[in-house]
Parts: sequence; structure tokens; C-alpha cells
Amino acid sequence: MTDEQRDLVDRAEQALLAQAGGKERQCTCEELLDNLMEFLDSELDEDQEARFRAHAEDCPTCHEAADAEQHIRSIVRRSCAEVAPSSLRLRVESQLSVLRVTGIRAAD
Ligand SMILES: [Zn+2]
Repeated sequence: MTDEQRDLVDRAEQALLAQAGGKERQCTCEELLDNLMEFLDSELDEDQEARFRAHAEDCPTCHEAADAEQHIRSIVRRSCAEVAPSSLRLRVESQLSVLRVTGIRAAD
């Protein structure tokens, strides 16, 4: 192997190591909890979401925090649906249909 080839191999190895290191780099609990809402809302980019997901799967603390937050959200969603009276629902629906008709006329 020539010096040049050795140099190329070295550089290729370093690039691979850097890549692997980047993928394995896990986020901290603090980072995840700071971004928990964005994480649950899927507002993060793919790389970050994958890191957070991997961390949440391994870390009982973050797993529990994500679970709890999701649980709270589902309760809030359910109770919101239950609380809304049918009269309000009817009013919203009729307003929506008025908006729809107005919208179609405006488009003309
Ligand atoms: Zn954690």
C-alpha cells in the first residue's frame, strides 16, 4: 500500500467513524424534556425525532414523561369532546355551512 492509499483509507475510516458517532449520539433527558411538546406534536426534523425516540425508549424517566404527557392530552381531548354541548355543535356546524356557501360565492 502506498502512502497515498494509506492516507485515503485513514480518511475514509475517520469519515465513517464520525458518521456512526453522529447517529449514535443520544440526546440528554434535559434536551428531550425541553422539546417534549414538539416531539409529541411531531414538529421536529427526522434526525432529531429519531434521536429523541431512541432516548425515550431507553430512558425510563423520559419514557414516563412522554407517556404522561400523551395521557394528559388524551384526557383533555376526551373531556373537551364530552363537554361541548350539542347546541354549540349545531351553531358551529351551521356557521361552517354559511362560511362554505359564502366561500363558494366569493370564488365565483
Ligand atoms: Zn431521559
